[in-house]
Amino acid sequence: MNYGLRTNNQEEMTKKLYNYKLLLILIKISTMPKTIIAGNWKMNKTQAESKEFLKQFLSLIAHRDESTEVVLCVPFTSLETVSLNLDGTGVGLGAQNVHWAESGAYTGEISASMLTEIGVNYVIIGHSERRQFFGETDETVNLRLKTAQKHGLTPILCVGETKAQRDAGETENVIFHQLKEGLVGVDQNNLVVAYEPIWAIGTGDTCESSEANRVIGLIRGQLENKEVSIQYGGSVNASNIDEIMAQPEINGGLVGGASLEGVSFARIVNFQ
Ligand code: PEP
Repeated sequence: MNYGLRTNNQEEMTKKLYNYKLLLILIKISTMPKTIIAGNWKMNKTQAESKEFLKQFLSLIAHRDESTEVVLCVPFTSLETVSLNLDGTGVGLGAQNVHWAESGAYTGEISASMLTEIGVNYVIIGHSERRQFFGETDETVNLRLKTAQKHGLTPILCVGETKAQRDAGETENVIFHQLKEGLVGVDQNNLVVAYEPIWAIGTGDTCESSEANRVIGLIRGQLENKEVSIQYGGSVNASNIDEIMAQPEINGGLVGGASLEGVSFARIVNFQ
């Protein structure tokens, strides 16, 4: 009997098994949805105010968990200033809209190359305020999504229902329709979705975290790529972020009001 050979074989098998398990863990980690916390400043902050915010905010998130991606979606006028000040910080830069044309007679709009030239990597598309007040439709949302991706931008597609739609039991139908129409021809490997119930935006009336988790699970069910990061948005703040992020389907937050103040947004980024 050759005991030495047997021991060597066993050792080799154990090593192979270990490496195989390690590989499986690495594959799982690399295909898990990323955690992304994005601030949506809407129409707030001048360039000077933006710089002031960054001084405080960046120092407060210096020791953050690096696996959480942080993005600031700022007004067009602050993009360049913020871009310069984010250099080397690992914080992403987002715009709040993008037009589908390359250039042309579209007064008040912005093109994708104007954004990428100054270091923008994300763009919010189909925010309910654009849909409600500026005539954004699922069709224009779809055009904007495709153009953003063509230029290497990662779109954050917002979907969500009104209070009346929720009360009428229409939540799922509304959201599924927004996804179906919005995502025609869209690459789901470069996409973030934000579930933002309209009745919860800017109202302080946060959606119960378990309910947000349920709807986000339904949204994931509609997507071809189950690894898309899906955020919750709607009155997220420093006090409710921990509970929201503890939900298994929720991969981050899109934060409006509470992203305007350095201390509160830093606490949200540093959720526990
Ligand atoms: C938003 O504007 O996307 C948003 C969620 O706003 P708030 O956090 O203020 O509700």
